[in-house]
Amino acid sequence: MQTLDSVEPLQTVIARWKSQGHKMGLVPTMGDLHEGHLSLVRLAREKADRLVVSVFVNPLQFGPDEDFTRYPRQLESDAALLEKAQVDLLFAPSVDAMYAKGRPAVQQVSAGEIGDILCGLSRPGHFDGVATAVNRLFAVVQPDLAAFGQKDYQQLLVIRRLVAEQGLAIDILGGSIAREADGLAMSTRNRYLDEKARAVAPRLFEELRAAAALIRSGTQEHARILQRSIENLTTAGFRPNYFELRRAVDLTVPSKKDRELVLLAAAHLGETRLIDNLLFSL
Ligand code: AMP
Repeated sequence: MQTLDSVEPLQTVIARWKSQGHKMGLVPTMGDLHEGHLSLVRLAREKADRLVVSVFVNPLQFGPDEDFTRYPRQLESDAALLEKAQVDLLFAPSVDAMYAKGRPAVQQVSAGEIGDILCGLSRPGHFDGVATAVNRLFAVVQPDLAAFGQKDYQQLLVIRRLVAEQGLAIDILGGSIAREADGLAMSTRNRYLDEKARAVAPRLFEELRAAAALIRSGTQEHARILQRSIENLTTAGFRPNYFELRRAVDLTVPSKKDRELVLLAAAHLGETRLIDNLLFSL
């Protein structure tokens, strides 16, 4: 596996691979890799001839009071995991390399309206930052396919919209959520949880499952079920940010006719903000 930290040499390699007719895959990450990331690597590895994984802690997607400076950076162990997973190239640029300091400003991309709801309400500008970074990576790597996790379901839809909007010929693969044995969705930020919080954290997924079962049973009003879940999480020690039922296809509020749904939740546990979701059909 080759590791590169700047754009020009990466583009040389990509141009060579393209001229050889290789199908290119990309898995964007912020590093400190866990099994969730590696499941995306395997998904993309199956379909691509040459696979690039990026590790870039993107400052544009962190708010001023968020954890950009303390976000874990573990490039050496990440590289070892990616080598083992038969990744061809690790792209780990600095902020300056990524956003071309000293040259014309990088194209700022809007996530559109879908970036303004749910997580976008409490993290203004977050999805514009994600879209800008991913758009830059797409321009540099020119992948035929790219894998993103359903763990960040709103982000996955932001990327699908970006690709449609910009008319990019990139196949977006959505990887299912990798979970710990007790159901907690794997996340780099789980590292922040102390022992007590870690014991409580799986309640978020339990509440999603319980609410989905109640919605499926059709015995109670949706608004009541969602309110109950918020109360249950609060009692368990969370500070819920939202707990919502949406249409899986576009995250708008479902009507009675809609069958493909997603429950999405975000909640603070201590200082750590956890998100999770559950896709289901009626
Ligand atoms: P991050 O490094 O947190 O920016 O995540 C990089 C990619 O991995 C994103 O597409 C995430 O949705 C995905 N991802 C993160 N956690 C998980 C998980 N538990 N299961 C599946 N994919 C995940």
